[in-house]
Amino acid sequence: MLLTISTTHQPATDLGYLLHKHPDKCQSFPLAFGTAHVFYPEASMEYCTAALLLDIDPIKLVRGRSTNLEQYVNDRPYVASSFLSVAMSQVFGTALGGRCKDRPELVQASIPLVAKLSVIPCRGGEKFFQELFLPLGYAIAIENHQLDEKFPEWGNSRYYSVELRHTLPLVDLLSHLYVLIPVLDDDKHYWVGEDEITKLLHHGEGWLSTHPAKAEITRRYLKRKGSLTRQALAQLAEVDQPDPDGMEAEAAEVEAAVEKPLSLNKQRMLAVVDALKQYGCQKVIDLGCGEGTLLRYLIRDTFFAKVTGMDVSYRALTIAQERIEKLHLPRQQWEKISIFQGSLTYQDARFKGYDAVTLIEVIEHLDLPRLTTLEKIIFGFVQPSCVIVTTPNIEYNVKFERLATGKFRHPDHRFEWTRSEFQSWANKLASKYGYNVNLTGIGETGIQVGSPTQMAIFHHLTGK
Ligand code: SAH
Repeated sequence: MLLTISTTHQPATDLGYLLHKHPDKCQSFPLAFGTAHVFYPEASMEYCTAALLLDIDPIKLVRGRSTNLEQYVNDRPYVASSFLSVAMSQVFGTALGGRCKDRPELVQASIPLVAKLSVIPCRGGEKFFQELFLPLGYAIAIENHQLDEKFPEWGNSRYYSVELRHTLPLVDLLSHLYVLIPVLDDDKHYWVGEDEITKLLHHGEGWLSTHPAKAEITRRYLKRKGSLTRQALAQLAEVDQPDPDGMEAEAAEVEAAVEKPLSLNKQRMLAVVDALKQYGCQKVIDLGCGEGTLLRYLIRDTFFAKVTGMDVSYRALTIAQERIEKLHLPRQQWEKISIFQGSLTYQDARFKGYDAVTLIEVIEHLDLPRLTTLEKIIFGFVQPSCVIVTTPNIEYNVKFERLATGKFRHPDHRFEWTRSEFQSWANKLASKYGYNVNLTGIGETGIQVGSPTQMAIFHHLTGK
């Protein structure tokens, strides 16, 4: 199985930097199911081609399993399939991750690229190729192979040779191929579980949520498993905005700048930590954890036995992870932390098993219908003994010198509530779902306007 990637970008040998593979070398990489070879059939300043040759060993594929002939004699060694995606992630992992140590400026550069797949099976034919690649801006040339050249009357096979042309960053091309090769083949050689959703959302970032065939891509990528597909599509719906991560990062800076003079963020985190301790909540899940500010307070404190963060934004989670790694915690403390990508509006069993759910400056990012869904999930389905919610108090906004009149603190806020609005929301939920609720303010208290942040602590009446 052969994949080649060529460019006429000048100097074309920059492709070697981008792929982290030197154009003068021929390298081989052992894999669980065979060997991957990387070499450059052509590498001049004007034109450069990198080749990934995947040599699948049919014996390795079946090692340790009960076998039949079909498991040895099949098309897998000769066609592009999920084996190729795995090989790409192992051999071109740095490039696929969008990193380039020596020439970082190249990573986001759009360069002319041509990818050729020598043979790829496709369920759905030429039309499906077009449905996948045309919306992404590729020009495609496809050749369908006959079942047997000696017997043209047998018709065509499901095998194709494909050439894809586009001017785009290499990382985008690799991500498209990584996701779409197994989608075309409509199969995967390994067990598909929830990790696959994370991979799909990660490699689909920036293009999948707006792709017209996203439902079919998701379904096939997840091996047509209904529950995984629904979960992934729910998460994709959350990231339907053009660049949620970019927007979130930028907007968070605006919000931080508005609130900075008070170091309100710190006061908020300390108030939440105090409340969790007061209610004896040792196992905490922070939903919409963002870049992990609260997580870092919790994991450094030995009171907390289990700390988990969840957010829809892969970018925020990567930052959270990096920041936690920088704490250089002893192993014991590491074991109590986990982070996963998910959605607040998806009834996710992973939210269960904690004493407390925290929603810190999160609810105001949801439209009201989604907020109602969230309420049902947290209070109706998860039902932890404690729920802590913080949100801005809009009455205080007049005190922020840097905030224009009538504006919310964060461009993505769907609402900001007065104290009485928050109170009536909290009381309604408490009585509907059997919780007690305490409301307090966080930060300096202004005459008439109250505190900048408001916090509700819900405690289950049965104290479970
Ligand atoms: N709790 C963090 C971040 C608050 S910003 C802190 O206090 O610093 C709001 C966060 O909610 C963002 O990280 C955003 O990505 C996340 N978010 C918004 N909608 C979401 C959804 N539907 N599912 C999961 N996370 C969501």
